[in-house]
Amino acid sequence: MSEKVRVRFAPSPTGPLHIGGVRTAIYNYLFAKRNGGDFILRIEDTDSQRFVPGAEDYIIEALTWLGLTFDEGTHIGGNYAPYRQSDRKDIYKKYVDILLEKGAAYIAFDTPQELEEKRSSIQNFQYDASTRGQMRNSLTLGKEEVQKLINEGNQYVVRFKIEPNQDVLVNDLIRGEVKINSSVLDDKVLYKSADNLPTYHLANIVDDHLMKISHVIRGEEWLPSAPLHVLLYKAFDWEETMPKFAHLPLLLKPEGNGKLSKRDGDRLGFPVFPLEWKDPKTGDISSGYRESGYLPEAVVNFLALLGWNPGNDQEIITLPELIKLFSFDRCSKSGAKFDYEKAKWFNHQYIQLKSNKELRELFIPYLEKEGIKADESYIETVIGLVKERVSFVKELWGQSAFFFKAPESYDEKTIKKRWKDETPAQLTELIDVLKGINDFSSNNQEEIVKNWIESKGYNLGGIMNAFRLAVVGEPKGPHMFDITATIGKEETINRLQKAIKDIKK
Ligand code: GLU
Repeated sequence: MSEKVRVRFAPSPTGPLHIGGVRTAIYNYLFAKRNGGDFILRIEDTDSQRFVPGAEDYIIEALTWLGLTFDEGTHIGGNYAPYRQSDRKDIYKKYVDILLEKGAAYIAFDTPQELEEKRSSIQNFQYDASTRGQMRNSLTLGKEEVQKLINEGNQYVVRFKIEPNQDVLVNDLIRGEVKINSSVLDDKVLYKSADNLPTYHLANIVDDHLMKISHVIRGEEWLPSAPLHVLLYKAFDWEETMPKFAHLPLLLKPEGNGKLSKRDGDRLGFPVFPLEWKDPKTGDISSGYRESGYLPEAVVNFLALLGWNPGNDQEIITLPELIKLFSFDRCSKSGAKFDYEKAKWFNHQYIQLKSNKELRELFIPYLEKEGIKADESYIETVIGLVKERVSFVKELWGQSAFFFKAPESYDEKTIKKRWKDETPAQLTELIDVLKGINDFSSNNQEEIVKNWIESKGYNLGGIMNAFRLAVVGEPKGPHMFDITATIGKEETINRLQKAIKDIKK
């Protein structure tokens, strides 16, 4: 292992980054920053068939939105550039040749048809020590024959020659020691002459080595590849600098049975991607957390706790705190259920943590859409009064529209229930009471109005409900006198007058 902590997030640009991939990126980032290390973005695009245009930019945009900044990567360069595997083609061939020379790999000419025939004639066929002797490869053909086939332009692959019956140990920082027998592994293809490209396994190992990666932190789905990777490190004689592994638990469906998929999101109505994604082929749009109104801080906090915990029941943990607390000891081995309601809860909490000024900046575009212009300080006061009622910035308008414009209509049900025969006369009296108040602060109004109600022997609820209906138009909103103190005396009186005039039973 190299001394400095260097981790890489190594997605394949095969589509939008899944929320599970985002969690992997977060854990890599936290571990790197916890240990004063480097966080690197490497794009693993050697499988040209699965390449999707736009996916790399999407990944960078998503992680930038979440505040996970890279130290090196395709978009910013670095000492180990290039960071996109398709730009590193020339590097890999040399390492394929090293394995061939050492006898740790061999050339195989079997065509897809030949392989298919074997699969149908031999039960559970696997290309390995038990079968490679029956195949067309450099172990069974003479040297000259091999050269002749290559010269004739026959396509071939290079396969890793796995010695059977050895114990392979993978030391995993989350799972402990995982031991498997090499006989279960097949002689994986490392390189294909057809496109002159290495496969994932070879490119991944060579790049981790050359980029001095100290820890490989990735999803559990890569655990089955880890023994092969350990054997590759051995074959190259790179065991001493082999990175440590940490395979993260799966994100599970909300019900807990099986892996979280895009279909679960469609079925239950939540995004499984950080940003909205438009499929370049079909034009289909998949929703994203950003466009759904999530704050990046909330998404990071929510995901960080799916598979890791701080050792106590603290739930609100900001990115700088996460960096201080993160360690693999508290990562769980078992999958984490994806609880979408909890994501909303986190967003609600992070809205409460934002200052009214920050929220004002986020809220302004929504006000503009409604054609509303107002003083900055007025908007901030309103936000302060309603924010505890919302989980998303976009919900602020629904909770506060009446601060910006008088009601145009009045809720019918409330009229029926709350607008009594005596209401117009009582509200007319209330107008006079309000007119006489000089200090229109919430507390002062409340004291004076309540004294008046009491002295008259009126019903407190009856007056206050009708008052609210006149000012808000509906039975909702924060404390009544906070509303009137904010909109001011004149506006309050105007709204009362209008209601008295317009509301008919
Ligand atoms: N390219 C692999 C992926 O798409 C990387 C796995 C790894 O981190 O080794 O997830």
